[in-house]
Amino acid sequence: MNQHNEIWYKVLHFLSEKIKKADFYVWFQGTTILNMDEDKVVIGVPSIFAKDWFQKRYVEVLLEAFELVGNKVSEISFEIDDSLSTDEGDGVDLREMFATNPADKEAGLPAKKKKKKKESTNLMNSSIVEYQTVQSYGSKTLNPKYTLDSFVVGSNNRLAHAAATAVADRPGLAYNPLFIYGDVGLGKTHLLQASGNGILKNFPNSTVVYITAEKFTNEIVESIQKNNVKAFRNKYRKVDCIIIDDIQFLADKSRTQEEFFHTFNELYHENKQIIISSDKPPKELEGLEDRLVSRFEMGMIVDVSFPDYETCLAILIEKSRELDIKIPSDVLEFIALNVQSSIRELEGVLVQVAAFAKLEGEVPSMQTVASTLKKLGKIELVTSKEELTHLPADTIRRHTSGADVIDLVAKYYNLTKYDLVGDRRAREIMVPRQVGMFILRNDFNYSYEKIGSEFGGRNHTTAMHACSKVKKMIKKDQNLQNEINDIKQVIGL
Ligand code: ADP
Ligand code: MG
Repeated sequence: MNQHNEIWYKVLHFLSEKIKKADFYVWFQGTTILNMDEDKVVIGVPSIFAKDWFQKRYVEVLLEAFELVGNKVSEISFEIDDSLSTDEGDGVDLREMFATNPADKEAGLPAKKKKKKKESTNLMNSSIVEYQTVQSYGSKTLNPKYTLDSFVVGSNNRLAHAAATAVADRPGLAYNPLFIYGDVGLGKTHLLQASGNGILKNFPNSTVVYITAEKFTNEIVESIQKNNVKAFRNKYRKVDCIIIDDIQFLADKSRTQEEFFHTFNELYHENKQIIISSDKPPKELEGLEDRLVSRFEMGMIVDVSFPDYETCLAILIEKSRELDIKIPSDVLEFIALNVQSSIRELEGVLVQVAAFAKLEGEVPSMQTVASTLKKLGKIELVTSKEELTHLPADTIRRHTSGADVIDLVAKYYNLTKYDLVGDRRAREIMVPRQVGMFILRNDFNYSYEKIGSEFGGRNHTTAMHACSKVKKMIKKDQNLQNEINDIKQVIGL
């Protein structure tokens, strides 16, 4: 072991006691001392995120640690060394150093690295020049109005919001890629951009690029025509985070898929964050190569769906605050009750109602909402929440969350929802649990991933198995079929 390594190991031993375990493993994996003299030490870190993070949080504690191990320095700086994030990197392998018990692995310890010595190259100077050129591009592509704070969280998007937040806090390390899917107007672009804005807030020197899959495609076509594919590649392979919106647009575009595949691999292997949105889960995307689909499945897949009434109302309150318009609460409630297609429409109605009222010089009323909605072709209007239970099945579906279904199924079988989402495997609990999963799949069109997460974070294969089991059982067991019909009736379907 050379002298620098020896000092670094001692410092790390000290720090492992001082810093929260999960943070320690995440941030110090792959680090090394690049240079050290009497007074100064240069620490090599694998990414711009790590550099920012170290500068912000670890300077003090590092100074203390160096002093304690008998190598006092007065200045610490950090340099990005891309090679440290690869298997061949020279950085420290914390698993080798510390992990003696399995709990350490759960604390977020990165995969074991193969130790292979290699000349450490300092890419610092070249990467700074390049990312500055990209950065001016990156910041132009994000809309600052989309933030994690202005995103209203409900049961329809809780998981997606939590994942987007985790990614903003620990880009490249929390979930990679993060894949968010759902129908139009349900907040995907908002969340994607919010996550990107969050990364920039936490790591101001990083480069975040947001691009729609359509624009990505057009840029490739153009670069092929102009014979500068290389410049295109450089642009996207030098960023710290790439956000691609509406990936379904790549369907059947094999050249773009090819290009994206390579960009993806390169960024992924350098621990750069990748965030993707789509209108469907990866498996259901048609016209997309299997190798891309399997890449998308390597990270975290979450969906957004239409919010329940209360969340709709909260979104309306948030939007009227943003737009600085005053609308009485019963009017907002009336809008929330009557718009059930998308959040974009919800917002659209709000803006129109406000504009209409302004024109008339009066505070928006139920009447204003009614005439706005009529103009949009909505004839039958709902005036109270109770009426929602007599609505068409489609509307009921939109207003019933996964948790509601689990509650109802539990009640029907005289169990609690904790029985259903919990781990007990007694038959009198197993069957109702499977029935709940079956209803969410068959009647609510939930993906298996989503069913798994509604049921206490189970794996999607468990949900898949449950649904096919119930399907088989009801063929033989008329009683079970009747029970399912009863439950559906209670739900209103
Ligand atoms: P998508 O990309 O899924 O089609 P968008 O992200 O463009 O949908 O959302 C449409 C509009 O609805 C945006 O103005 C967005 O800010 C708003 N919106 C969606 N979900 C939420 C939410 N949970 N909280 C606040 N605003 C939301
Ligand atoms: Mg969108």
